[in-house]
Parts: sequence; C-alpha cells; structure tokens
Amino acid sequence: MTRNILIAGAGIGGLAAALALHDKGFGVEVLESAREVRPLGVGLNIQPAAVAALDKLGLGESLAASGIPTAEHVYFDHLGERLFTEPRGLAAGHEWPQYSVHRGELQSLLLEQVRERIGPRAVRTGAQLVDVSQDGESVRATVFDRARGEHVRHTGRVLIGADGAHSVVRELLYPGSAPLRWNGAHFWRGITEVDSFGTGRSFHHISDARGTRVVAYPISAKAAESGRVLVNWVVEAAVAEPGTPLERSWNRAGRLPDLLAHLEGWELDPLGLRELFIGGGPILEYPMVDRDPLPGWGAGRVSLLGDAAHLMYPVGANGASQAILDARALAEALDGSGLVTGLREYERLRLARTTAVVLANREMHAAEKASAGRADRGERLAAITADYRRATATGAAG
Ligand SMILES: Cc1cc2nc3c(=O)[nH]c(=O)nc-3n(C[C@H](O)[C@H](O)[C@H](O)COP(=O)(O)OP(=O)(O)OC[C@H]3O[C@@H](n4cnc5c(N)ncnc54)[C@H](O)[C@@H]3O)c2cc1C
Repeated sequence: MTRNILIAGAGIGGLAAALALHDKGFGVEVLESAREVRPLGVGLNIQPAAVAALDKLGLGESLAASGIPTAEHVYFDHLGERLFTEPRGLAAGHEWPQYSVHRGELQSLLLEQVRERIGPRAVRTGAQLVDVSQDGESVRATVFDRARGEHVRHTGRVLIGADGAHSVVRELLYPGSAPLRWNGAHFWRGITEVDSFGTGRSFHHISDARGTRVVAYPISAKAAESGRVLVNWVVEAAVAEPGTPLERSWNRAGRLPDLLAHLEGWELDPLGLRELFIGGGPILEYPMVDRDPLPGWGAGRVSLLGDAAHLMYPVGANGASQAILDARALAEALDGSGLVTGLREYERLRLARTTAVVLANREMHAAEKASAGRADRGERLAAITADYRRATATGAAG
C-alpha cells in the first residue's frame, strides 16, 4: 500500500490518471460504479496539449488509428453560407494534432491499456463510491459492491475523485456548493455515417439569428479507411429562460420532430444536415449545464480531477482535454513531492487553469449568441475565437 492511489471513476480522466500514475511507479486501483465499462457516448475532442500528454504515455499511434485529425473549424449561417474558418491542430501550427474521436472508443483504448499495464484487476467495476474517510496515514473509500450487494472498504494513501459531473467525492468535500447551472438550452446529439462531409477533417459550426446552433464533425479513422465518414452532430436550442432551476442533469432519448422544430427556416441540405439527423441511430437529449468553479479541490489525502472538479459547457471542445491534462499534472506533482504536498501543488496549478477554461467557455458561448444575426458576424467570430484561444492558452499548457 506504500504508494497506492485510489481513483473513483473509470471515465476518460480516471483512466488517464491511472496510466500517468502507473508510469511514475505508483500502485493504482480504480473504483468504477458501472457494472461494466461499455463504450458509451458519441464524439469528443482532444486538443493538441492533451494529445501530447497521451502520446507521452505511448498512446499516440492508437489515437491516430482511432480519431480524425481535425484541420479546421468552419462557421456557417443557417442558410449554409460560410462566415469564417479557423485552422486547428497541425494546420494551426501546433506540434500535435487535435483529434475528434468517439468517446467510447477512447475510453476502451484507455481501459485496455490500464488492464494490460497495471493488471486485469486494476479497475474494479460495480464499485460505487459512497463515502470517504482519512487519517494521517491513509484514506478509506467505502464502496457499494453491486455484485455482492454489500459495502466494501478499499484503502490507499490518496484518493482522487474522477467520478464525473455528479461527483460524490466533490459533494463530500464541498457539500451543497457549486450546484448545476442550467442556461436554459437543450442538446440533441447523435452519430451518422455518410458518404462525405466537408474536407473529411472539418468541424462545422452552424447557427441562426436566434442563437440556435448545430455542430458536426467526423470522428472515426476506421470509417475513413473504408471510404465513409462517421459524423458526430449536436443541435443546441433554447427551451427555457437561463437560470431556470434544474434538479439534476440527465440523458434521455431525443425525438427528431423536437429538434427539427428548432430549425425552422434553415436550409438543411447544403451542408447535409437533413441526412445527418434522419440517417443516424438513436438521438440523445440533455440540458446544457456547468458548475461554478470550486474554491478548492481537496483536503488532506483527497482531491478531484476532470468533470468532478471543473464541469464546463461543452462548447470549447475542452472537457476531456482538461481531464487528461489534470491527469498528467497530478502524476508529476505526486512524483515530485510528498503525496499530500503533491496534491496541493497539483490543485494550485490546475484549479486556476481550469477555472479560466470554465469561464472562457461561458464567455465564448454568450459572445457567439450576441453576434448571431449581425452583418459583421464573420469578423466577430474571428475575434471571439481569438479571445477564447488567449483565455485558455494556460489551460492548454497543462
Ligand atoms: C456515459 C457517458 C457518456 C459521455 N458521452 C460524452 C460525449 O458523447 N461527448 C462528450 O463530449 N462528453 C461525453 N461525456 C463526458 C466526458 O466523458 C467528460 O466530460 C470528459 O471526458 C471528462 O471525463 P471525466 O473522466 O472527468 O468524467 P466521465 O467521463 O464522465 O467519467 C466519470 C466516471 O465516473 C463513474 N462514476 C460516477 N459516479 C461514481 C461513483 N460514485 N463511484 C465510482 N464511479 C463513479 C462514471 O460511471 C464514469 O465512468 C460522457 C460521459 C459519460 C459518463
């Protein structure tokens, strides 16, 4: 148990942390609530700094074999007219690509590597963390073991709450603080395989004067190899006043007529949107939420990572990347200092950087909405994306 680290949550952040900590010689045990880690989700993006962190863990080739190296973000109006193009990844001069990937594929890749490198029992599934206690020597996680139907204790030197948007660890550390903030918008999202999409490496943002938005981008290298394009798409539309209370974030089956009702007056065909919405599999619907940044991330031998620490609007393509950068910073801080000192060092570095990203996501979202329908929209979008890059540059630096 000398260097044993407990991680709650086998999502992107928890698994990346397990690999980074193992790489520094720590023992790691991951406690995952789900009975089985299934490749859930649709698309997400990994920014160049996070790609560099994964490459350092030996995952560069696997990432390249899974995702699409996004070359440009292209902004259109709802009639299909191009407003502004922003080069991304290698095309923007970064040393590493930006990858658009299937979340489930990325999670499976990380899980496979954790089991291969750390051991087949490194991830305990069906282990729902319910409580944490600690003393000067160790930390104890009380877990509900779903298979046995009873509570079990796991002991380590440190515990990291990487248990996602509804983190139990965050709630134990900061009860009642930073509730979910809903801005009144819903997302509908899905994935659809089509013959072609933009350049095959294009990320499209399309919006109208009301601020209703569609985002779509290809996510699969395997589909590209077979001459097809697997496109992740999202429709975002206001359904309530900002600030309307929301008890809990949820995912539910979405209905095509509901999302199409928000796209009245749109030209759906020039950018292939009709094909995307109609030709795909299941549609998911959920509210657009984030949380205010926390005053701290931990106490004693416990800390937070990923969405548990800094849930952000999914508008800057940054959520998973920041979780991966947390993982790298955590492993480096724990390796460089004593465990408890290392946790505080990690928090000092990452809390400030991720707070800047949470706030920049809010600001960018509001500024894009305010620019909707303006005659100089293209120039406004160029200024807004440049502001966002500046505001998040330290977050990207890890
Ligand atoms: C099922 C699912 C689908 C998603 N789909 C998308 C998507 O399509 N696109 C996108 O951009 N983002 C998606 N996300 C969110 C995205 O993965 C995160 O924003 C980002 O990758 C940061 O990852 P994270 O590890 O902090 O959180 P997550 O990836 O959310 O992982 C948190 C993990 O903690 C586990 N957990 C929760 N509570 C407990 C507990 N009490 N004890 C033990 N384990 C617990 C969860 O089961 C989950 O495996 C999804 C998340 C989930 C859980």
